[in-house]
Amino acid sequence: MSNLSILRTYATKAASEFPNSILFAHTERTLTIYDAYPKAIFHFLILPRIRTESDLTLNELNSLKTLLACDQTRAKEVITSLKDVADTVKKDIESEMMKRYGFKWPIWTGFHASPSMQHLHLHVVSGDLCSTKLKNKKHYNSFHPKLGFFLHLDDVLSWFDSEPSYFTQMAKLDEKTYEKLLKEDLSCLHCGKSMKNIPTLKEHLQQEWESDVARHRAQQDRKRRLGETRSSEESDNHQDKKQKS
Ligand SMILES: [Zn+2]
Ligand SMILES: [Zn+2]
Repeated sequence: MSNLSILRTYATKAASEFPNSILFAHTERTLTIYDAYPKAIFHFLILPRIRTESDLTLNELNSLKTLLACDQTRAKEVITSLKDVADTVKKDIESEMMKRYGFKWPIWTGFHASPSMQHLHLHVVSGDLCSTKLKNKKHYNSFHPKLGFFLHLDDVLSWFDSEPSYFTQMAKLDEKTYEKLLKEDLSCLHCGKSMKNIPTLKEHLQQEWESDVARHRAQQDRKRRLGETRSSEESDNHQDKKQKS
């Protein structure tokens, strides 16, 4: 089985056929799996399932492009079902962020304009892009939130409510146009600084992430110290009152 079509085979399977190491959650209409090559600290894929005759076909669900070429109402329904699940997954990620790191940072949900794997899948990815699996320019640029290759879910949903001509234009998703974006020069997604190569960029992203962690730690320390001062003032007050009475 090639990697290219692995999500296709997942889409038709029963949830019980998956090991826990692959499947994170499922609904009647969707599967949420761990990305096998996570490009950030948290990275999930949500895909539509094909379980009944009335579901869209494998070919219709091959990609965002093939889906948008289908009946618009059904296409929007599929994307909305992915969004509903994404909202839950985001909450799960946020509580894990709090548990492990004590603070939350952005989580992006979106599609790749020209995906490398068959079968529609929504990426839910934390906005750090710190991962050993992020190895080249293509990997990085495909998730850069402002470059345009990563199509944010809410933007895609907004196409359905815009002028028909705009929808048609966006739904084209011409591979060549988008793939050019993957070759753009590297720049930091946080501060925009240009980066000469992937090792430099990865080191910089790690530093950005670590200074974010440090900033939040300092904030919490300040809050805690403030809390301690307050509670010791309170107990002082208490003792004052006791002495007076
Ligand atoms: Zn993908
Ligand atoms: Zn930066």
